[in-house]
Amino acid sequence: MLLTVLGCSGSVPGPGTAASGYLLEAEGFTLGIELGTGTLAQLQLDRDPFAFDALLFSHLHPDHCADFSPLTVLRRYHPERPAGRLPVYAPAEAPSRFVAAYSPDAQDRAVTDLSDAYAFTALGPRTVHIGPFAVTADRAAHPCEAFAFRITHDGTTLTYTGDTGWSDAVTALARDADVLLSEASWTHADDRPPDLHLSGTEAGRLASVAGVGRLLITHVTPWTPVDDVLTEAKAEFAGEITRVRPREAYRL
Ligand SMILES: [Zn+2]
Ligand SMILES: [Zn+2]
Repeated sequence: MLLTVLGCSGSVPGPGTAASGYLLEAEGFTLGIELGTGTLAQLQLDRDPFAFDALLFSHLHPDHCADFSPLTVLRRYHPERPAGRLPVYAPAEAPSRFVAAYSPDAQDRAVTDLSDAYAFTALGPRTVHIGPFAVTADRAAHPCEAFAFRITHDGTTLTYTGDTGWSDAVTALARDADVLLSEASWTHADDRPPDLHLSGTEAGRLASVAGVGRLLITHVTPWTPVDDVLTEAKAEFAGEITRVRPREAYRL
């Protein structure tokens, strides 16, 4: 599997950096994971805007899905748009939320349900097969319906936390994974809210407790010192730790 980062800025886009978005590729299939603010602009620096064979969303906060509306414009009106409906795997609310974001007019929404451009599948705590990937979802600890994923291809496993606070379900998804792509939004301050995000300490602890091979850190907010997050993670996890960067690719 090849993981390419479109954006990795936590909770909001940062200076010159998109919010969450990734491409996961294998066997010529490209799975887009999240489409946060600014990710479509990043994508088009290197690729066709129709590079995706399917999309997967952990949850529906704007920093993970705000660029869905501009993708709809591309898929409806671009002169070289592909035919057919793009498969989208997302929380059950996605079709109604995405159409509301796309069209502010209620009458228009009655006829604009996006089913011309997309085929939606609601996620749940189960395994779905998306192209060459087996994707097992389970619920994350976050204020809305949110999932983390364990994605396997050809004997290699990537676990992606999405947005989550400390969670036994997410820890189970990460068990013995080759690579853990973990959010670490902030440092381990005493006043951080529960069930929202992981600190650097918790991301490192998750990697250690789950026994993963390698830790990729993402979703650090622009106002958090990233070196402090990495120092926290290193104190908990002895394996390789990398802070991911936009437009970089990681062979898994
Ligand atoms: Zn987020
Ligand atoms: Zn979120």
